[in-house]
Amino acid sequence: MTPTASLRESILQHLRYSFGKDPEHAILEDWRMALSYAVRDRITDAWIAATGKTYDSGAKRVYYLSMEFLIGRLLEDGIVNLELVEEAKAVLEEFGKDYGTVLSDEPDAALGNGGLGRLAACFLESLSTIGCPAHGYGIRYEHGLFRQSFVDGRQVEQPELWLEQRHAWEFERPEVRYRIGFGGHVDKRGETVRWYPGEVVEAEAFDTPVVGWKGRWANTLRLWSGRAIHPFDLDRFNHGDFAGAAQPEALARTISRVLYPDDTTEQGKELRLKQEYFLTAAALRDILRRFNNQFGDLRKLPSKVAIQLNDTHPAIAGPELIRVLHDERGLSFEESMEIARGCLSYTNHTLLPEALETWDEALFGRLLPRHIELIDQIDSTHAKQNPSRLNSMRADHQVKMGQLSFVMAHHVNGVSALHTELMKTTVFEELHGLHPDRIVNETNGVTPRRWLLGCNPRLAGLITESIGEDWVDDLEQLTKLEPFIEDTAWLDRYAQVKRDNKSELSNWMAQAHGLHVDPEMLFDVQIKRLHEYKRQHLNILETIAHWAEIRDNPNADWTPRLKLFGGKAAPGYFFAKDIIRLINDAAAVINADPVTAPYLKIAFLPNYNVSLAERMIPAADLSEQISTAGKEASGTGNMKFALNGAPTVGTLDGANVEIREHVGAENFFLFGMTAEEVMERRKIEGHAWKAVQADPRLKRALDLIRDGRFSPGEPDRYHGITGNLEGADYFLVCSDFTDYWRAQREVDTAFKDTRAWAKMAALNTARSGWFSSDRTIRGYMHDIWGAESLL
Ligand SMILES: *Cc1c(COP(=O)(O)O)cnc(C)c1O
Repeated sequence: MTPTASLRESILQHLRYSFGKDPEHAILEDWRMALSYAVRDRITDAWIAATGKTYDSGAKRVYYLSMEFLIGRLLEDGIVNLELVEEAKAVLEEFGKDYGTVLSDEPDAALGNGGLGRLAACFLESLSTIGCPAHGYGIRYEHGLFRQSFVDGRQVEQPELWLEQRHAWEFERPEVRYRIGFGGHVDKRGETVRWYPGEVVEAEAFDTPVVGWKGRWANTLRLWSGRAIHPFDLDRFNHGDFAGAAQPEALARTISRVLYPDDTTEQGKELRLKQEYFLTAAALRDILRRFNNQFGDLRKLPSKVAIQLNDTHPAIAGPELIRVLHDERGLSFEESMEIARGCLSYTNHTLLPEALETWDEALFGRLLPRHIELIDQIDSTHAKQNPSRLNSMRADHQVKMGQLSFVMAHHVNGVSALHTELMKTTVFEELHGLHPDRIVNETNGVTPRRWLLGCNPRLAGLITESIGEDWVDDLEQLTKLEPFIEDTAWLDRYAQVKRDNKSELSNWMAQAHGLHVDPEMLFDVQIKRLHEYKRQHLNILETIAHWAEIRDNPNADWTPRLKLFGGKAAPGYFFAKDIIRLINDAAAVINADPVTAPYLKIAFLPNYNVSLAERMIPAADLSEQISTAGKEASGTGNMKFALNGAPTVGTLDGANVEIREHVGAENFFLFGMTAEEVMERRKIEGHAWKAVQADPRLKRALDLIRDGRFSPGEPDRYHGITGNLEGADYFLVCSDFTDYWRAQREVDTAFKDTRAWAKMAALNTARSGWFSSDRTIRGYMHDIWGAESLL
């Protein structure tokens, strides 16, 4: 049977026997599900084979613990990795179904906020492509990140209901359940210590196979769902208390109900700490069960188990592992601590002080009474081993999760070269001095299967036609494109790909959002979470200043530009929400201006998520990576853009530094202060006001906002923003404005030379191969985990 015939057979079988439909009566969702099941069957074969090989080899396994996995849709990923794109299109076409429409029917699994969760998803895919035996452990949130819409320009949040539509990818594992306790008391009898929790919920496993390139390997993403041990209180029911009867179940399920939508501020909420312990304790129980079945001798744990903590969120893994080894299995405290540290490593994701996780010790002690004792014991043991230690994990009645993670990890890594160096001189200065070999760098990456092959088939096709397909899992082969770039006929084809992608996005924007734009414009894109440090307000200020400039001189030779925005603000982050509203308000006024319409348009697309990123990035001409230097740990959006041929306008921040080194300074629009200059600039009194006085364009843009030009009838709507910018301006928007403006005008000039621009874009593609998450994962395997590929 041909692959197409076999896929057809399999789809029709599932339509009939899994969903009870024939092709005549199947609705879109049935087709999507039948195709998903047909693909899933093939993935499952690879998965079971990989699991068998892992057991047989006795190899070390990697466990990636993360509160977030921003996986997005999985059907296209499966089809692409199994190389079934043409077959799937052909079969669907036979039945009069459109491939893109069927794929778009899948809900976007938004089990993460942004970069951190997306990184975890890229890592899982790379681990499978490489054939490194691994599990991802996370929480099966019923509601992922909220759905965003705009009402009068303002962000409105609605709950995300991804599980309401049928979800094709998970296998429920009712036999894998663990009891997870909270609260209660600690009982000490001589040497024996026991924790008796006051409240117990059950964690149930749901497994999703994650397939790698060509289906050579598949690993497991195991997500935990909360449930009650006794879901139903019959006694209460019989007494007529129907709501009360269902209460135990409702309470237990709360734990996996929602993802916290704050990505850069720590809220210190009890439920959040419960979620963190729930994930970590269930994962460790599962890891130890698997280890016991296969090996038994706990002293061997570090040679068979590598546990990576994605940020401090699962930092409780240190004390929890010690608790199990010491309290429950009877090993000495010191030995337990050594074994735990031998298994654990920790990735730091931010230096923002407001994002460093700390817990109120009273709350912590109430919820995890044994763990807080163990943390003190870890702290004092560490202090004894390092007599010069000044700081502690406990200060100001807080438990400091960063310090705990560092002490309990054999390696600590930053996510870009700059970030790793800054870690050594800021948050972890003292600990780095005590343990100078512990901090290593693993610059982030993105998976080329999703972020080039899947989302940009035109470009992927041109690349494969030019250099063969080996680039897909060996991305640095893209440098082989460089000789082609010298050929104008080839370069014209490269440029045509971008034009086609822009037309496709324009058509989609017209159809989905009623936005009509000219695809010939420069597509200037800033898509990422809304945050002051990411400086979407710098972008809109420049846009407003540019608008005013065009109005002064409408007949000049302006480069037509479309400013595209996307991104969600945390529901309680009012400043960020005001920035969204300002962008939408400015868009309403500027888009309606007939004088500037040929040269400038603004669109803020709602509900930015993985699927929207996949649509927008292949169509971008320019990538906005304009954070205040020193604040963006790495960024991964920046890599997706460069790979898809959008040069960056950006600061020397995070991985931008390394992107610029790789693609070449002449193919990158650099502006702004360095991290060092930022720290110096902040010391200058009235720095913002001085910057405003020095730049009439900036002053005019701020005046337009302050005078209500974009908020007619309510001139003070944005006084919070203008006051902040002219006053404290902690993120140095004003100080960087003038140089940002200069860089943008350089972009305007460069874009006019179509061939030179195409060359710059193509060189970005050719030289971004290093930013594959395959390279990142190989780095972790070698430098941190001591794990090997089984392929
Ligand atoms: C890549 C990605 C991010 C991270 O973007 P940054 O620009 O690095 O902050 C966030 N959200 C989604 C949906 C992504 O795909």
